[in-house]
Amino acid sequence: MSRSQKEGICELCEKESYITFHHLIPKSTHKNKWFRKNFDIEDMRHRGINVCRKCHSYIHKLYSEKELGRRLNTLESIKNDEQIMRYVEWAKNH
Ligand SMILES: [Zn+2]
Ligand SMILES: [Zn+2]
Repeated sequence: MSRSQKEGICELCEKESYITFHHLIPKSTHKNKWFRKNFDIEDMRHRGINVCRKCHSYIHKLYSEKELGRRLNTLESIKNDEQIMRYVEWAKNH
């Protein structure tokens, strides 16, 4: 979880909340060969989305960091993931 917290709008459930930064390519994968080959280190460091703590922990509960980095490394792909989509729909109404 992020050390610096601020209030804002979650990019997934669109609720106003404390916002944390989710690395679309999680830090733990930055040293991995496949990621080094496919992404620029600066890109990996800065590519992220601002999400509330609930959405953030849900994403990490659902998928491993490797899978997130390989498959769900854009806001678009996260939003289009079926399980996350279902969760977001639910979260919007709670
Ligand atoms: Zn959220
Ligand atoms: Zn994260």
